[in-house]
Amino acid sequence: MTPNAPNGYDVIIVGAGPAGLCAAMYAGRGMLKALTIERGAPGGELLNTDLIEDYIGFESIKGWELAQKMTEHAKKFGAEIVTDSVERIRKAEDGWFDVATTRGKTYRAPAVILTAGGTPVKLGVPGEKEYAGKGVSYCAVCDGAFFKGEVLAVVGGGDAAVEEADYLTRYATKVYIVHRRDQLRASKIIQERAFANPKIEMVWNKRVLEIKGTERGTDHLVLEDTATGGRATLAVGGVFIFVGFRPNSGLVEGHAQHDAAGYFITDERMMTSIPGLFAAGDVRSQLTRQITTAVGDATTAAIAVEKYLAAVREREKAGVAS
Ligand SMILES: Cc1cc2nc3c(=O)[nH]c(=O)nc-3n(C[C@H](O)[C@H](O)[C@H](O)COP(=O)(O)OP(=O)(O)OC[C@H]3O[C@@H](n4cnc5c(N)ncnc54)[C@H](O)[C@@H]3O)c2cc1C
Repeated sequence: MTPNAPNGYDVIIVGAGPAGLCAAMYAGRGMLKALTIERGAPGGELLNTDLIEDYIGFESIKGWELAQKMTEHAKKFGAEIVTDSVERIRKAEDGWFDVATTRGKTYRAPAVILTAGGTPVKLGVPGEKEYAGKGVSYCAVCDGAFFKGEVLAVVGGGDAAVEEADYLTRYATKVYIVHRRDQLRASKIIQERAFANPKIEMVWNKRVLEIKGTERGTDHLVLEDTATGGRATLAVGGVFIFVGFRPNSGLVEGHAQHDAAGYFITDERMMTSIPGLFAAGDVRSQLTRQITTAVGDATTAAIAVEKYLAAVREREKAGVAS
């Protein structure tokens, strides 16, 4: 398939994390004229991750190193990456997408793959930034194995917090769930599993005021009682924060179907309810969010874009002929 976009691109990829870079690599191999727009350095959350030990084929690799390898690989197949921030994605009347950026540019393409990821909500307390990657984590599946034999705290009270606390007990000797209320928001079945787990202890009505540590990492939390205002400390070797995750899904003008938390719902091709708009990686509604799932989604999306564009062009040809 030759590029068929005299006034623009075949596809615009928004975000150059693992999903965006993988989509760019596949688009290049598929001979699509693709533009990837990234607001920062390519790599996405890999750049906030110290060590990765669960990306198959790499027993242990630094986040920045994997980001570099993915970027080089995408560029080898012709990825064009511009540094800019996408402000709005809108499907115009001619069926093409207008992708507007903060630098005042509007790029056009008949298909868009949105791979803008999301951001874990931070507690915003002293020590959180300082010990990120040194005891403070936002991903149990990613980092749990680094905490074998430790006492851990999980902060939060929703499904993610309670499920991840349960998951962490396979490595930790004990997991405290620190919650600012006297009951959890998590669904009943998840709560029951946690209450039945002898390694989990609830710390009710407590707000984290500060995360303290040494040069070796986190060693205790300073807590405040939300009822009495009293202060206490809790000795922990690590703290996992699950107080929300915000998908970067607000860029799309017009209604693309999403779930209650704002993640895009797609079909098996990764296409959203807006024809030609695809979503891949952390921005998509799915069971888990990992590098492997992000690149898997992106592979499907890029190949689906090829098929989508071929079908659109077939229909256009038939329309002209008839
Ligand atoms: C601290 C941490 C550690 C992790 N560790 C692991 C691990 O060990 N193993 C594992 O498998 N997974 C891990 N994960 C999860 C993994 O990093 C993500 O699942 C993966 O990065 C998702 O890829 P993505 O491309 O969908 O999104 P992201 O990596 O979030 O990339 C999205 C990209 O889009 C860009 N972007 C966003 N909005 C715009 C915009 N408006 N305009 C232009 N660009 C935009 C962002 O700058 C970013 O580069 C970890 C996550 C975190 C937070």
